[in-house]
Amino acid sequence: MMNSGGYGIREARDSVQRQNPTAVDLATGCLERIAAENPKLNAYLTIDAEGALESARQSDEQARQGQALPPLAGVPIGIKDVLTMRGMPATAGSRILKSYLPPYDATVVSRLRQAGAVLLGKLNCDEFAMGSSNENSAYGPVRNPAAPDRVPGGSSGGSAAAVAAGMALAALGTDTGGSIRQPASYCGVVGLLPTYGRVSRYGLIAFASSLDRVGPVTRSVRDTAILLGVIAGYDPLDATSSPEPVPDYAAEMEEPAAGLRVGVPGEYFADGLDPEVRQAVERAIDGLRAAGCSILPVSLPHTKYAVPAYYLLATAEASSNLARFDGVRYGYRSPEAGALSAMYRRSRDEGFGPEVKRRILLGTYALSAGYYDAYYKKAQQARTLLARDFLKAFHEVDAIVTPTAPTPAFKLGEKVEDPLAMYLADIYTVPASLAGICGLSVPCGKTAGGLPIGAQVLAGHFQESRALRVARAIEKLAL
Ligand code: GLN
Repeated sequence: MMNSGGYGIREARDSVQRQNPTAVDLATGCLERIAAENPKLNAYLTIDAEGALESARQSDEQARQGQALPPLAGVPIGIKDVLTMRGMPATAGSRILKSYLPPYDATVVSRLRQAGAVLLGKLNCDEFAMGSSNENSAYGPVRNPAAPDRVPGGSSGGSAAAVAAGMALAALGTDTGGSIRQPASYCGVVGLLPTYGRVSRYGLIAFASSLDRVGPVTRSVRDTAILLGVIAGYDPLDATSSPEPVPDYAAEMEEPAAGLRVGVPGEYFADGLDPEVRQAVERAIDGLRAAGCSILPVSLPHTKYAVPAYYLLATAEASSNLARFDGVRYGYRSPEAGALSAMYRRSRDEGFGPEVKRRILLGTYALSAGYYDAYYKKAQQARTLLARDFLKAFHEVDAIVTPTAPTPAFKLGEKVEDPLAMYLADIYTVPASLAGICGLSVPCGKTAGGLPIGAQVLAGHFQESRALRVARAIEKLAL
């Protein structure tokens, strides 16, 4: 079955080329798995069996005609529901977009299609990608395949759970402050945050535009490299996308990590770090040393400002981005609508969930005339200091290794009443988001109770290959 360790994207594509198994076999396998697991895990919000089988048949047809297949031919992939797929619902986990059918594909989706991918459907997530547990979805939480009484992480919880449970060979997620890396670590899969500008955001329903990024969630480092190679690159439809050439990540990833300088920031190993997580990440670091990396201490002194700065900037941007949902142009309109202003108010009141409302309020407050300097401007200054911390560190080291999250997956319901505790747990992922650099989470062992643990590997702007090399070395340790 395709969820066994060695069967990845390349093997799937090669099998389809040989027609053993066919793309239809692979798609059917995933669809059966979805039928069996999804009622319990709730990872998919929309399943496009017909569309998936249709593109699988096309790949099979090309293979039978002896054509050389593209890199993702017949590879079954799920898409986070904040990305648009023409004619498929894109709810972003929100009630306000329940009936919205986007008329266009996100650029990442069209790139997957061009590469022959079989798109299975849309994956559950926190509402507008705001959350760390998937409990903020208007369509119910996702459960962690490793422990169904626990959260899969968020906001790309559906993406991580689907990949971990074999309901897709790979998925796309989005990461604004950790939403790919943290669920990957909780579910025991690989998830990559590309450098800001590396991957087009066109067709991504915006949360915080200066932070939002699209990236792969997969079962191996190599699959992440392959998928990144397909979705990365300049897009005229996204003015912030970069013309920086796209290297062959899958090839560069294979270069040994020996000789790389790996930094370990003391600030990430302080109070509040679960002892089992600490131990697992330290073992990964020992393994890197044994593999020939030099391990060096580095300092990221402004780390303590990351969470407050992030929650001011992300909410400020969200308050602006979410102003477009007004009951007129998209999705839900309150049936009680009377006068225009009441219609706006009621549609937004009924359409948005509590966390989204909390953030619109916080963001509006941070941007308001009397408080702008004290909050928004200060947070921007802190962001610059955080980015400088990394620039300085990357003069001394090629990559940085930390825990992805301070604890393994927590229990469903454990933090819903305490938004601050939920925010504080983003401590290790938000700094890279603010700095615009790249990083990923790679599995590095399990707790005694069998919960997955992830190590985060960070690298400088457009240094994805370095992060992938270090992650590959950790993966090889088979912890
Ligand atoms: N957990 C963070 C938040 O709630 C990050 C979310 C994300 O990356 N989309 O904002």
